[in-house]
Amino acid sequence: MTGKKRLTVFGATGSVGSSTLSLVREHPDKFALHALSANSDYHSLAQLAQEFQPSHVVIADEAFYTPLSELLSGSGITVLAGQKALEEVAAQKVDLLVAAIVGLAGLAPVWRAVETGQNIALANKETLVAAGHLIMPAAEKNSATLLPIDSEHNAIFQCLRYENQADIKNIILTASGGPFRKMSVAEMQDVTIEQALSHPNWSMGPKVTIDSATMMNKGLELIEAYWLFGLKPEQIKAVIHPQSAIHGLVEFCDGSWLAHMGIADMRVPISHALGFPERLAWPTESLDLISLGQLDFKKIDTALYPCFASAYSVIGTNPANAVILNAANEVAVDWFLAGKITFTEISRLVDRALESNINRAMLNCLDDVIALDRETRIFLSAE
Ligand code: NAD
Ligand code: MG
Repeated sequence: MTGKKRLTVFGATGSVGSSTLSLVREHPDKFALHALSANSDYHSLAQLAQEFQPSHVVIADEAFYTPLSELLSGSGITVLAGQKALEEVAAQKVDLLVAAIVGLAGLAPVWRAVETGQNIALANKETLVAAGHLIMPAAEKNSATLLPIDSEHNAIFQCLRYENQADIKNIILTASGGPFRKMSVAEMQDVTIEQALSHPNWSMGPKVTIDSATMMNKGLELIEAYWLFGLKPEQIKAVIHPQSAIHGLVEFCDGSWLAHMGIADMRVPISHALGFPERLAWPTESLDLISLGQLDFKKIDTALYPCFASAYSVIGTNPANAVILNAANEVAVDWFLAGKITFTEISRLVDRALESNINRAMLNCLDDVIALDRETRIFLSAE
């Protein structure tokens, strides 16, 4: 690398944001921060700003503008607040913008970054799930690049680096199966928030951890892969692999398979995106093949994981279905985490929204996507 890469990290206080910044901390000679953002945790954002000295910080929730400004007064760092500020900063040219906001809240900033032709390291899978049909052509038109950070997509991206699209037969995403992979459908009825939040292999933010327990996460990831890799729905598959040592596989037309392996640590795919096109060294543990012993694979049981089945059913259909699925899932996960519904009610709410007669008109622009997301949330709140 020549010179420092200038980075913007959206969602800096979250799980992916923290992993990203821990890698930046390892390489003060390679990276400089342009901007950092958070939703409401202004204390952590101010601390990160003091440490990394970005030019800008953005707090999405405007209520925290004043306390954040007070903490950073005299620092020379520009403090901004609100959704529009996030979008403005997304359009400020950097070498790499890390999109690590959770949920559809991250869509508008990613869209602005795409319109500006930025290089985007994308963790925020919900943006592609809801608006892949708009983002992918816009990225091409504006010469924006999307480097996937989601571990399975990053794995497949690495396997495809020197390959021709036409030679790909199938891609396969692995799934750990989450904490309930050994349970029966009946046992799933009674799982607690705490049980659902304790993932066996990965340490992640609360929403994606619950999505992993329901396996909605793998369904969202198949939709994400559909848009990222431009394949037919039937070429995109998922399999349970409890060891989480292989993250993604590609089968080619000549019978060759490539698989990407690594420890279950988000710093592996994030370091790939940060360093790209070079590799970024960091003091990672090795994958210990002997103690790993074996690699197991299992079919996904759709009776146990109805959210996976619902997400799978929308791939390649009217993009409005994925917006409704995603919005309903965000609402249901929030309600589950707030103790308002049980774990198995998550999939019932998602299906109720999918089966509803919410208007599925063409989604021609970002505002159409955001309006449908809102309509779905209103529909569920009125239920
Ligand atoms: P997290 O909950 O730990 O962090 C989310 C970040 O987004 C925080 O900085 C928060 O302040 C910010 N944020 C939340 N709501 C916001 C809003 N309304 N407006 C602006 N900012 C907001 O989430 P995470 O686990 O880091 O996941 C981030 C994204 O990456 C998700 O889309 C997730 O699916 C994806 N992802 C995460 C992992 C992982 O290991 N954590 C792995 C793969 C993909
Ligand atoms: Mg993933």
